[in-house]
Amino acid sequence: MDLLSIDSLTDEQVRAILDRADHFFGANPTADSTTLNGKLVFNLFYENSTRTLMSFATASHRLGASVITMPVEQSSVKKGESLDDTAKTLNAMSPDLLVIRHGNNGAPAAVAEIMDAPVINAGDGTNEHPTQALLDAATIRRRLGRIEDLKIAICGDIKHSRVARSNSRLLSRLGAEVRLAGPAELMPDGAPHLSVDEAIEGADVVMMLRVQRERLEADLGDAPGEFLRRYGLTSERLARAAPGAVVMHPGPMNRGVEIDGAIADDPDRSLITMQVAMGVAVRMACLELLLA
Ligand code: ASP
Repeated sequence: MDLLSIDSLTDEQVRAILDRADHFFGANPTADSTTLNGKLVFNLFYENSTRTLMSFATASHRLGASVITMPVEQSSVKKGESLDDTAKTLNAMSPDLLVIRHGNNGAPAAVAEIMDAPVINAGDGTNEHPTQALLDAATIRRRLGRIEDLKIAICGDIKHSRVARSNSRLLSRLGAEVRLAGPAELMPDGAPHLSVDEAIEGADVVMMLRVQRERLEADLGDAPGEFLRRYGLTSERLARAAPGAVVMHPGPMNRGVEIDGAIADDPDRSLITMQVAMGVAVRMACLELLLA
């Protein structure tokens, strides 16, 4: 079994991952397990990563697996080796699982065709980031007790965000009302268009997304402070949300662009650090599901 998209998972598997992650999150994080002793996990990241790469490595270690991260910048990728040939090479080394992030939509699925071992998509282009959506769902459920019937506003660069795509699939499947909002030029073609203020009105969860400047064809041409004022999460905008609403961000944040830094650091409202910790727990649950 591979984990390439939210739709690769049945409802039962989603529930099992969320429950298991909740267990790992509550458990002593340094209590090492031997469940995956003797297993070998390869990390293959063609795009930059802090949270996803480190949490897959941490999750693997915590379960007793060995991890090797291929240094893409120093590898034969830089000599022009194709993705297919890289996958065939790694497959010949017989890892038990491969985690891949790539800038092209569908690259993990293509690699999964070649690999004998299960493949996890750690983010492909603008397509999907399924483990991010699972960790966001697990975080919301643990903090608010449920997902069903919650109003969840996802705001910012929706067009280029694999996080928005995987989250809206998963959270709507789990019964939430998902509202997508952002500047018109950062909304997917044909998507219903709410303003950020409309999306945040009465929301239980406000999830802010980074402008993916590396995927923009032309610069937005916004002056410093303009994005925050027009579309970002300020305390004035957050006041429109439901009482007790929580704030999320998958990271990396652009403080002062899509989110005011003081809101990101507010211990009562911000779940951003909890998302990171839950990221390890969810990836432990996914590794266990695919390998144990
Ligand atoms: N870290 C997330 C991703 O890889 C979000 C982002 O980069 O803005 O998609």
